[in-house]
Amino acid sequence: MKIYKFGGTSVGSAERIKAVSALVNDGDKKIVVLSAMSGTTNSLVEIIEYYYKKNSDAATEAIAELENKYTKVVKELFKNDSYISKANCFLKERFAFLKHFSCSNFSISDEKAILAQGEIISTNLFQLYNEENKIDSVLLNALEFVKVDSDGEPLLNEISVLSKKVLEKYPKTKLFVTQGFICTNPEGQIDNLKRGGSDYSASLIGAGIDAEEVQIWTDIDGVHNNDPRYVEGTYPIAKLSFDEAAELAYFGAKILHPASILPAKHKNIPVVLKNTMEPSAAGTYISNENVGEGIKAIAAKDNITAIKIKSGRMLLAYGFMRRIFEIFEKHKTSIDMIATSEVAVSLTIDNDSKLDAILNELREIGSVTVDKNQTIVCVVGNMISEAKGFAAQILNSISDVSVRMISYGGSRHNISIVIDTENKIKALKLLNDNLFTKKN
Ligand code: ASP
Ligand code: MG
Repeated sequence: MKIYKFGGTSVGSAERIKAVSALVNDGDKKIVVLSAMSGTTNSLVEIIEYYYKKNSDAATEAIAELENKYTKVVKELFKNDSYISKANCFLKERFAFLKHFSCSNFSISDEKAILAQGEIISTNLFQLYNEENKIDSVLLNALEFVKVDSDGEPLLNEISVLSKKVLEKYPKTKLFVTQGFICTNPEGQIDNLKRGGSDYSASLIGAGIDAEEVQIWTDIDGVHNNDPRYVEGTYPIAKLSFDEAAELAYFGAKILHPASILPAKHKNIPVVLKNTMEPSAAGTYISNENVGEGIKAIAAKDNITAIKIKSGRMLLAYGFMRRIFEIFEKHKTSIDMIATSEVAVSLTIDNDSKLDAILNELREIGSVTVDKNQTIVCVVGNMISEAKGFAAQILNSISDVSVRMISYGGSRHNISIVIDTENKIKALKLLNDNLFTKKN
């Protein structure tokens, strides 16, 4: 059994829903996990805000607008009048539900019930479409088997026991459809796995039923080796380890949130990123295996602030680092990169909301310099320590760019370099030419 998860854009129109239905109907056993149609969850958030603000006119208007959108989808999706009226009847009921809330005592559980409607609608329309087209599938209610505890943390064991039990009821069925994102909390109320949580659902259900593979279908063809916005000729990386994928995720490479694939990683279930627009493309295969050697990808993160603390007292002193780290901890600011010498420490942060308070305290320890508008360029790969020359190759490539900091050896998967943001595009291009283009 495999899990196929489709994001909002993959089911974002009647045409896309038809394409997904054709794609999953290949006779292999699978559970299809769907997000809400693109834009829907955002609209629901807007409706919720109007309820909280006691602006019922605006809520009614936003609901009507969303309802219109779905009425059009239904017209395009179904052929027979009987299915059009079945779908409209279902929508009528869902939209009556959205309208029935009152502004006076709107609560958090109302909020969560509203947020869940996007996935409930997309999966029901998908199932109806399958029925009309004689595609044999069963719609499973994720609320019955995706459970979280009172802190909103998924209950893996329960999910496993319950999802297996649900599947046992349909021994002959090959195609199952269910909702991403939504779940049930210990009070038995509808809850969710936070925005973007459908990937997490797919990974949790996959781990729960010991799936062979979790496929995440989006509108990109996997993780690229460099940023296609700045560099020409980038290509999707065929294979990555979970560790490499996690390094890249921090840099905003269009990839899954590392936490969302943890359940699959722990169960050793590969996660494959596939492109709905180009289903035959291989995509990116992420597994626990350390496949391939050498440099695989380059990514960059902007809005980095680099801070240098210099103090003669640091020389041969112990406890110095702890004092610095405690200041950042106190101000709930995480440090991303560190470089040290005997008398100075340089570090980077990506959130400077507490910068002034942090600097005031750091100045009690030593002299402090701050550089804003920095970028971390990160080179990721399987750079086994016995192999020589990776660091030299990377630094030689950007010998023309002034480097503020380097981090190497934190893990064997990453070499990070801090530069001025104004040099980012130049650095990405130089690295691309030297590490990828010339090699191929
Ligand atoms: N529909 C939800 C959201 O937009 C969940 C998801 O798409 O993953 O956040
Ligand atoms: Mg989404």
